[in-house]
Amino acid sequence: ATATRALFMLFGATGDLAKRKLYPSIFNLYKKGYVDNDHFALIGTGRREWSDETFRDVIVESVSANADSEEQAKSFASHFYYMAHDVTNPEHYDALSDYANKLDQQYDTNGNRIFYISMAPNFFGTVAQNLKAHKCLSDNGGFNRLIIEKPFGRDYDSAEELNNALGKSFNENQVYRIDHYLGKEMVQNVLALRFGNPLIEGIWNNEYIDNIQVTLAEKLGVEERAGYYDGSGALRDMVQNHTIQMLTILAMEDPISFKDVDIRREKIRALRSMRVYTEDEVRQNFVRGQYGANGDQLDYRHEDNVPNDSITETYVAGKVLFENKRWKNVPFYIRTGKMLSDKFTRIDVVFKKPLIDVFAAANGSESELNNNVLTLFVDPVNKIILRLNGKKAGQGMDMQPIELTHTQSDEEKAITPEPYERLIHDAILGNATNFASWDEVSRAWEFADVIRQVWDKDQPNFPNYTPGSMGPDAADELLERDGRAWVFNS
Ligand code: NAD
Repeated sequence: ATATRALFMLFGATGDLAKRKLYPSIFNLYKKGYVDNDHFALIGTGRREWSDETFRDVIVESVSANADSEEQAKSFASHFYYMAHDVTNPEHYDALSDYANKLDQQYDTNGNRIFYISMAPNFFGTVAQNLKAHKCLSDNGGFNRLIIEKPFGRDYDSAEELNNALGKSFNENQVYRIDHYLGKEMVQNVLALRFGNPLIEGIWNNEYIDNIQVTLAEKLGVEERAGYYDGSGALRDMVQNHTIQMLTILAMEDPISFKDVDIRREKIRALRSMRVYTEDEVRQNFVRGQYGANGDQLDYRHEDNVPNDSITETYVAGKVLFENKRWKNVPFYIRTGKMLSDKFTRIDVVFKKPLIDVFAAANGSESELNNNVLTLFVDPVNKIILRLNGKKAGQGMDMQPIELTHTQSDEEKAITPEPYERLIHDAILGNATNFASWDEVSRAWEFADVIRQVWDKDQPNFPNYTPGSMGPDAADELLERDGRAWVFNS
């Protein structure tokens, strides 16, 4: 491992995400030697008045499960420094800048700085602008990189405004927009499978593929996030970002190299071919849902912090089209929602049936040929299943589906980094492949905004699906109309 020297500055250091995901991820990088153990420090900021000791206790607690010894956790935590800081108070940034320069010297970090904003999105722009205005960015040849959490805006206009605010302090190539789905092993494996196998890439087109289905299902409801979620909804929370990113990776052309600029170029080309619907097309091709009650489970409108006349969607299904040569007439069906039958993410690539079923006519076979399906299980297991048609044992030529399965082993699982660990590592290396660029984010908003506008205008008939099901009937009808069905449906 090449160790990188760096000073981190984390905004939102007392927050939930920092404790649950960020500290354990940075700790793993430290353990594996990806951050230079002698030349790394982190300044955490938050509203609370914590001492360095309190902060370090929190760090030790959040990494202890992964630590080889208490000593190791403590030695890691000794690199952490805390500053109480109100991000809206410009003067506080002067103190931060001085502190950063001091630690930069103390740890000899070569002026490499990574700023991570893990706060409510309305602060992203303020923080970025103040960092530059108060000289918190290094200017001695080291790198300055900004990692920001989701959501990136709530529509095209607000995203553009935010992007312009960031742009005053950071260039596009210094901005790392987190989409943690891009850090998932099986999402990255899509690229490996496609571009590493002529067997697959050779049939990855409208001649052989009938349709592609992407499902991001959650078993839980809104939990404590209701306040935020009700102002957002599934379209903004899951479709505009994660789902469209997954579609892009499935639909993109082959990059000329695996460098971030080359991959991004192809992703953007794919997104530019994604059809932005008219209002009528939205009504035909997109379905929204909100969960009702089921036994002890309250309906969405009676969850804590949700208005009882809320028309926020907790479910979205839709048909997405890429208007280019490869994908002409191949629909990409997507669905995501809360309170579904289980928690999982999967991609089903449905291939066309043979043009002629020679078995049926000639051999009097009673079984029908099925579509071949390549299923990539993204969560909670990493697994690939290829469903083929094979011969049923015995006399005659009856057919039956057979499955070729690859499941990630426990050993592989143990060394697979969590998305946040992988993404922070990428940012340290300056590799933006698995982050969302502005061109991608903005195009995805253009697509989602039209849907949002129609839904804000039309009155929905909510609630319309039962907790524990796979969503509203209209989501099944969406495919039935095309003579198709969801591969997973229970
Ligand atoms: P949180 O509410 O737990 O933490 C917020 C942090 O911001 C705290 O450290 C708080 O001190 C700080 N803060 C708030 N106002 C401040 C101010 N005026 N000045 C200085 N500091 C201030 O939030 P979280 O759950 O950690 O989420 C952080 C970000 O990550 C959000 O953008 C959220 O959308 C995103 N996110 C969170 C999760 C998650 O699982 N929690 C998942 C994905 C994305």
